[in-house]
Amino acid sequence: MQCRSVNELQKLVDDAKKYTSTGKVADYIPALKNANKDSLSIALFYPNGNCYSAGDVTENLTLQSISKVLALALALMDRGQEYVFDRVGQEPTGDPFNSIAKLETSVPSKPLNPMINAGALAVTHMIKGDSVEERFERLVKFIRRLSGNISLGYNKDVAMSEFKTTDLNRSLCYFLKQHHIINEDVEQLMDLYTKQCSIEMNCLDLARIGCVFALDGKDPISEEQLIPHHVARICKTFMVTCGMYNASGEFAIKVGIPAKSGVSGGIMGAVPGRFGIGIYGPALDEKGNSVAGIELLKMMSEKYSLSMF
Ligand code: GLN
Repeated sequence: MQCRSVNELQKLVDDAKKYTSTGKVADYIPALKNANKDSLSIALFYPNGNCYSAGDVTENLTLQSISKVLALALALMDRGQEYVFDRVGQEPTGDPFNSIAKLETSVPSKPLNPMINAGALAVTHMIKGDSVEERFERLVKFIRRLSGNISLGYNKDVAMSEFKTTDLNRSLCYFLKQHHIINEDVEQLMDLYTKQCSIEMNCLDLARIGCVFALDGKDPISEEQLIPHHVARICKTFMVTCGMYNASGEFAIKVGIPAKSGVSGGIMGAVPGRFGIGIYGPALDEKGNSVAGIELLKMMSEKYSLSMF
């Protein structure tokens, strides 16, 4: 069963919207504070190019942690699996996304997975290019191809706001440098990482990227293989095991699809073989996931039998 009308989707959004009042907008990146706490929008992108949406889907969001999946895909394409997983693990942590704790206690000392900040910083470090500009340009071009939106870019205010305040990420980088996981100037990597997190798009773009993952890396319109099949499969697996931070287990039980969230309130979902989902709802729960976005996905999962388990 699948969503058959915009009205049907709008009704689900209206029901889920009530939950926005229970959440809080992220404020540790000062520029994110200004987001509208009450908003909730969703787009679904189908392999035949059909798209359903509800809410204000023209509103832009910055990717934040959603960018971790896309950077991982590019790093795997750039370096291969062996190189990447020699330096970053493949296991969930059960800790908050920005935790430093396990970096110190795990042996060998490497980040447990690419979806936590420590692992994502190591992955971003691996993106090929001779300068921060070139590496960022390569990532943006890749994301433009995935979204089919040739004009997308990044939000300079959000990037700068995070760059100025992100001392916890800096400390993760210094730890990684001490353990030879990264070997570049920390400020340079922070520049690249904060720009990556600030790449901006709307829910329609996000849903289309979700659809590429749902189709194992294939562009829904041109049918071109944008991401190698095995890379898309690795990314989707991480989305299931660690995509919703330390709420991934419960999310797998209640919703049951590969998904990745970001502290801006975005969620990208990929319903295998069926469609892509883009959600924007800036009010977050205590783990940093869009509170109404998760409720909306729970309702949809039940109504349309989305769980892959
Ligand atoms: N830019 C954010 C950070 O590193 C991304 C985190 C997130 O979305 N969970 O803190």
